[in-house]
Amino acid sequence: MTTGTLKAADVIRAIAFAREHTLRLAVKGGGHNIAGNAVCDGGLLLDLTPMKSVHVDPVQRTARVEPGVTLGELDKETQAFGLATPVGINSTTGISGLTLGAGFGWTSRSLGLSIDNLLSADVVTADGKLIRCSDKQEPDLFWAIRGGGGNFGVVTSFEFKLHAVGPLVLSGLVIHPIAAAPELLRQYRKLSAEAPDELALWFVMRKAPPLPFLPPEWHGKEILVFAACYNGDIQKGEKAMAPLRALGQPIADVIAPHPFIAWQSILDPLLAPGMRNYWKSQSFTAISDGAIDIMVDYAKKLPSPDCELAFAQLGGKINQVGATATAYPHRELQYLINIHTRWANASDDKACIAWARGLFDALTPHATGGVYVNFMPEDETQQRVQTSAYGRNYDRLAQLKQKYDPANLFSVNQNIRPGA
Ligand SMILES: Cc1cc2nc3c(=O)[nH]c(=O)nc-3n(C[C@H](O)[C@H](O)[C@H](O)COP(=O)(O)OP(=O)(O)OC[C@H]3O[C@@H](n4cnc5c(N)ncnc54)[C@H](O)[C@@H]3O)c2cc1C
Repeated sequence: MTTGTLKAADVIRAIAFAREHTLRLAVKGGGHNIAGNAVCDGGLLLDLTPMKSVHVDPVQRTARVEPGVTLGELDKETQAFGLATPVGINSTTGISGLTLGAGFGWTSRSLGLSIDNLLSADVVTADGKLIRCSDKQEPDLFWAIRGGGGNFGVVTSFEFKLHAVGPLVLSGLVIHPIAAAPELLRQYRKLSAEAPDELALWFVMRKAPPLPFLPPEWHGKEILVFAACYNGDIQKGEKAMAPLRALGQPIADVIAPHPFIAWQSILDPLLAPGMRNYWKSQSFTAISDGAIDIMVDYAKKLPSPDCELAFAQLGGKINQVGATATAYPHRELQYLINIHTRWANASDDKACIAWARGLFDALTPHATGGVYVNFMPEDETQQRVQTSAYGRNYDRLAQLKQKYDPANLFSVNQNIRPGA
């Protein structure tokens, strides 16, 4: 158990102060959101990062988690008991924003989204009330915060269901030259569709970083990286991953049993802070030949060594929940791409953003039109929040926004406007 210093009472006072002085209010959890919504100019910043307590109940298999906790900090505490709840793939991401948007990672196909494992939450609403919500208590608020972002109040505590995970998971990377990608991605389409829920098969296309297991002549060249994790018995994992590992002629295959905690932070060095970022995302129920060809084409003209196409496999347990059961509506998805556009110098802004938008636009005819709210950059329109992020759930969200935050105090986010 770790403990924090800032308390719910401080959050209540900060909200009252912002309300009384009609200040813009930014709320910072882990500060990871690429839209920059953890901060604002000329307003009040409610920084929750000192709220670091994690309390695991290994008997009930639950964890009470304060909002300043990062995914790595949560995994560390839960893995002390051989337990985990599904979260994202980068250990420095905040549990707050991730969960409020939905939250998925390596174990989501077998265990569901982070919100599917949320048992209750304490929320300070715009009027300064601290409300515990769950399926039984204030179920409307509980529905809204499971995907509706920070629109409904400030969460001061999350309660998660935990599952036995690890401590070792079969996981790793298989790396191929980009030239093989058109053929291998067509095979990936089949393998991923047939994969058991315990197996998550993702891929990344980018320029090769100087990884110690890659021959130096590949450093800086475009590569296709399959990333795989099996949440379960290692031997069953070996069997499930065998078809992936038999594909083509890899440059490297570093799949092995890894401590779950280590695997959860394996990609941290590629997504370190301090870069300029512009991300776009598309969602898919299937992968068309056209989408494969477009992705490979754009992978061959990456505008910076840090840009990448990150393609995640969803489905499995995530899709066993109804589209209107929580505010997150995209329960039909099998995959999504996150166009991680990252670069160092402002002089490259135009070229990098143009590359991201070009790829996004080219993929539009092959995608569902829906978007995961946590992957939306700062320049998304209100219309896209309404139709693409929330779709059929937007009207109910707008009504609940009217109920819990009629003056739109919580507006530094992908905003849901109060509605009748
Ligand atoms: C490198 C990287 C990797 C990622 N990988 C994944 C992944 O694998 N899976 C995935 O699902 N997502 C992933 N994401 C997206 C991530 O879920 C979002 O960026 C998320 O918003 C981050 O949460 P945070 O608390 O760190 O963000 P913040 O920037 O602090 O907050 C994000 C939003 O939530 C609001 N907010 C934060 N805390 C609270 C609170 N306690 N109460 C009310 N509102 C609050 C903020 O006001 C803001 O609007 C990744 C992002 C990055 C940058």
